[in-house]
Amino acid sequence: RAKRDGGGVARRFDPVMFAKAEQRRLAEQDLMRGLEAGEFEVHYQPIVDLTQGGITVGVEALVRWRHPEKGLVPPALFLELAEQLGQVPRLGGWVLEEACRQAMDWQIRFPGFEMNVNLSASQLGNPKLIDEVREVLRRTGLPPHDLVLELTESVALTDLVESARVLSALKELGVRIALDDFGTGFSSLSHLSTLPVDVVKIDRSFVQAMPETGGASVAEAVLHIARTFNLSPVAEGVEDAGQAERLRELACARAQGYHFARPMPALGVTELLAKQSPVVIDIDVES
Ligand code: C2E
Ligand code: MG
Ligand code: MG
Ligand code: MG
Repeated sequence: RAKRDGGGVARRFDPVMFAKAEQRRLAEQDLMRGLEAGEFEVHYQPIVDLTQGGITVGVEALVRWRHPEKGLVPPALFLELAEQLGQVPRLGGWVLEEACRQAMDWQIRFPGFEMNVNLSASQLGNPKLIDEVREVLRRTGLPPHDLVLELTESVALTDLVESARVLSALKELGVRIALDDFGTGFSSLSHLSTLPVDVVKIDRSFVQAMPETGGASVAEAVLHIARTFNLSPVAEGVEDAGQAERLRELACARAQGYHFARPMPALGVTELLAKQSPVVIDIDVES
């Protein structure tokens, strides 16, 4: 490989470059093996309603890799590589089906229990996505309104016209769309009127920057924006009681974060729900 550059220019063997390439090759192999072996799990983080005493009204599905040697690996350590290997549509399709099936299980006790699932750019760009979502809803029987598909601004804005088309088609199925990590991307505001979005998830950086008492905050401004555009806000990354209280004062009904619960295996949510008195959660009337 030393003469790869052509023109007869011989390159010296670079041990660092070689080690990096080798490491990457092994990581790719390991990931493909893990996918083949079905080593992935979906964990679920509760989303609570602050206006109803903090009951759990839904969850966000978050993928993890149960690695035989490394233990539980978070998505930050494998999603990008999976994306580069073109495996995210397949993995994401599996997450979607698994999550919807699980949501149906929880809906027996809590009708209207909501399931949030993250979509990546490659999934949004996949022409089969709409059929796939329709099929998963049909197979699992989950009411479309109780499925919320989350995408980040950077995903939605890669191709605005195409995104608007795909999101509209998804909305025709009855599912809802959330803008994830809202406020961290570029020119968020101008796109709220272009994209058919129902929910904004206020990024945890804004939630954590809220002042203890008084004072304006970006979180508050984002809440105003949400109201202006008739979008339901969900605060992400709530880590303490002060933040939860402040959000309640700002009339942000929904929140998610370590203060309430960490992401957990399905069984943990089942146990949590068993302690909660069964109620009909979904009381908002569809417009
Ligand atoms: P996200 O969709 O914004 O998910 C929220 C992330 O914040 C999760 O990280 C969650 O564990 C973490 N988090 C929740 N509460 C708190 C808190 O109070 N404090 C802090 N510091 N963090 C909190 P996780 O599970 O590592 O996921 C990271 C990202 O990976 C997700 O961000 C999402 O963009 C992506 N992701 C996860 N699962 C999937 C999936 O199935 N498909 C796709 N396409 N992306 C996924
Ligand atoms: Mg998300
Ligand atoms: Mg987020
Ligand atoms: Mg986030």
